[in-house]
Amino acid sequence: MRPFHYVKANDLPGALQAFAPQNDPTNAAPSVNAATQYLAGGTTLIDLMKLDVMRPATVTDINALDQSKAGQIEFGDNGLRLGALVRMSQAADHEAVKSNFPVIAQSLQLAASAQIRNMASLGGNVLQRTRCTYFRDTSYDNCNKRNPGSGCAAMDGMNRNLAVLGTSNDCIASYPGDFAQALIALDAMVEIAGSAGTRMMPFAQLHRAPGSTPQIETTLTQGELITAFQIPNLPWGKRSLYLKIRDRASYEFALASAAIALDLDNGTVRDVRIALGGVSAQPWRAAEAEALLKGKPIDDTMLLAAADKAFEGARPKKHNAFKVQLGKATLMRALRDAATMTI
Ligand code: FAD
Ligand code: SF4
Repeated sequence: MRPFHYVKANDLPGALQAFAPQNDPTNAAPSVNAATQYLAGGTTLIDLMKLDVMRPATVTDINALDQSKAGQIEFGDNGLRLGALVRMSQAADHEAVKSNFPVIAQSLQLAASAQIRNMASLGGNVLQRTRCTYFRDTSYDNCNKRNPGSGCAAMDGMNRNLAVLGTSNDCIASYPGDFAQALIALDAMVEIAGSAGTRMMPFAQLHRAPGSTPQIETTLTQGELITAFQIPNLPWGKRSLYLKIRDRASYEFALASAAIALDLDNGTVRDVRIALGGVSAQPWRAAEAEALLKGKPIDDTMLLAAADKAFEGARPKKHNAFKVQLGKATLMRALRDAATMTI
C-alpha cells in the first residue's frame, strides 16, 4: 500500500475541513481518483488501496461522527432517519426497520458477511465501487473508470457479472450494492453536508450514469459528506421486499435483484416502486414498468408485461446476456411475493 496522510475528524466541521482549498487544492468532484477520501468502515476504501486501485494522498477518518445524529436511527411520524455512520448490521437488526420497511432490513441482511456488516457504514455502502475484475486488477491498463481515457477491457473481455441496463460505450460496470435499491423503492432522500451547508436530494439522483466519465460515479461535489438517509412513511413501506439472486446463497454479490414497494387496493396496484440491482450500471428505478402496473391487477400477463418493459433497453454483451432473462424472472417473482405478503 502507498503511504498516505491520516486525519481523524472529531466532528462534521473537522471532516469538511479536510477538503478546504488549502488542504485539498485539487477542487475535484469525488471520484475513484480523488486525492482525499473519507474513511468510514474502510471495507471498500482500504480494500481498493491495498489493490493500488485507489491512491488517496489523505484519508479522513469520519468514524467519530457516529457519536452525533449521523450515528443514530430515528423512527417517528415523519418516517425513518438512518444516520450515514450507522453500521449495516445495526439497521438490519433494528425492530422498527424490520417491521415498517422490510425491504431495507432484507437488503442489508443479504449483503456481504456478518463481519463486514458490523464494520461497514450505510454511507460507505451506497458509495461502494464496482466489482468489475478489470477495475480491481491494475495489471490491466484499459479501464476508463480507474484510468480515464484508457478504454474498457470488459467490453470484449469477461463481462458475465456486468451490467445490461444503463451502460455506456465507455463502461459496462455493474453497481454491486443492495441497500441503494431499497432506498430507491422507498422514495428516500439523502442528506448531504458540505462547505455551503446541508442539502437534501432524492436518493435516486445520487448515482450518475457512466456516460463518458465513468470515474465520476455520483452527483456529490468536492468534500460533500453524506450524513443521513430519510425514508418517508408511505403506504407501501410495510409491503416491501428485497429479492437477491446470486451464484451462492451467502457472501456473494447479486447477479440480479429487485426491491419492491407495493400499495395494493383489493388486488389492484394503487402504486408501486421497482428498483433493480445486479443488472445495471447504477441503482436502477424501473419507472416505465411501474407506470404500466398502476391500476392493474398483479397477474401473469401484467407481470410479464412489466418485466419486458423493465428490460426493454437492455444492451447485453457476450457473457451477460443471461441477465436479461434472469432479471425479468427476478422482478416477476419479487412482485408476486410482494402482492401475497401478509402485512
Ligand atoms: P468505506 O470503505 O469506508 O468507504 C467507501 C467509499 O465511500 C470511500 O470512497 C469513502 O471515501 C466514501 N464514504 C464513506 N462514507 C461516506 C460518507 N458518509 N459521505 C461521503 N463519502 C463517504 N455490499 C453489498 O451491498 N452487498 C454485498 O453482497 C456485498 N458483499 C461484499 C463482500 C465483500 C467480500 C466485501 C469486501 C464487501 C462487500 N460488500 C457488499 C460491500 C460492503 O457492503 C461495502 O464495502 C461497505 O458497505 C462500505 O462501507 P464502509 O463504511 O466500509 O465504506
Ligand atoms: Fe473499467 Fe468499467 Fe470497463 Fe470495467 S466496465 S473495465 S470498470 S471501464
